[in-house]
Amino acid sequence: MLPRRFNLHRPDRIEDAVALLAEHGDDASPYAGGTELLIAMKARVLSYAHIVDLKGIAALRGVSARSDGGLIIGALTTHHELANHSLVLERLPAYALLSANVANIRVRAAGTLGGNLCFAEPHADPPAMLCALNAELVLAGPGGERRMLLAEFILGELSTARATGEVLVRIEVPGLPAGTRAGYRAFGHLERPAVGVAAVALPLGKGFDWRLRVGSICGRPTALAGLEKAMRGLPEADALAVLAEGAEQAAAAVEADDDIRGSAEYKRHLVGVLARRAARAALGMEALAA
Ligand SMILES: Cc1cc2nc3c(=O)[nH]c(=O)nc-3n(C[C@H](O)[C@H](O)[C@H](O)COP(=O)(O)OP(=O)(O)OC[C@H]3O[C@@H](n4cnc5c(N)ncnc54)[C@H](O)[C@@H]3O)c2cc1C
Repeated sequence: MLPRRFNLHRPDRIEDAVALLAEHGDDASPYAGGTELLIAMKARVLSYAHIVDLKGIAALRGVSARSDGGLIIGALTTHHELANHSLVLERLPAYALLSANVANIRVRAAGTLGGNLCFAEPHADPPAMLCALNAELVLAGPGGERRMLLAEFILGELSTARATGEVLVRIEVPGLPAGTRAGYRAFGHLERPAVGVAAVALPLGKGFDWRLRVGSICGRPTALAGLEKAMRGLPEADALAVLAEGAEQAAAAVEADDDIRGSAEYKRHLVGVLARRAARAALGMEALAA
């Protein structure tokens, strides 16, 4: 099926995109790589009278360094660019690998990180890891720019805090203390992950301050808060022992649904397995790439 007819706008400045989106309100949608939007429009699940193509806006592109050692990622940066960018490979190798395993080469080449986050399809890889890294978003709207945590931006399945008229400009990942480690593991038998777990370990005393975030299993990334607390500051071997012992119980408390990707029980089992493997990958006990 073809999408319903629409007017295509091609602004080359963020202000012009914002003005168009504000003018046409719910009749308009931003468009980046189109890998989600076009499918939904062709199926006529979504339809808009005005499409605002962001691809001509140079200010939404590129990856650069934050002075604190973190990264600034333009919303139009594709997964393929992130997987291969020298700064990402140097500062966040686990995130580069995550990007290299998103979808297939066609989707990675066209699909942007901004589109992934703004669509908020739960079966996605970036949100869990970016939430564990405390990533922030910068959005431009009719009233100017605002900044918010990604963890507060994703409200649930296909639902975000993006207001009508707003464009996601960039994603910022704060710098991490020297010695911070990160790992990610996901599993699914269909396109897109059934469950993914990100583990970020920040040096603390003789061990680490752990951030364990589960993605894909429900509408928004979830912290395994009890486990994080129990593992805090313990030497590596002790932290892994706590994780091995507590993972199944922690997973049992995670919200999950039965769907085509598996039963809630199966997905919770995956949480336990993937949390252990993501933590081991972060500590260098397993290869970063699965
Ligand atoms: C076959 C297939 C397999 C996939 N597998 C995976 C997978 O394994 N892991 C995974 O993480 N993801 C997966 N995805 C999802 C993929 O990552 C996204 O489709 C892609 O990142 C979306 O980016 P896009 O630029 O194409 O967005 P678009 O389709 O252009 O837009 C998506 C939504 O975001 C909005 N939007 C886009 N950019 C902005 C912006 N800058 N500001 C405001 N709103 C914006 C649009 O209005 C639209 O609502 C898969 C997708 C497909 C089709």
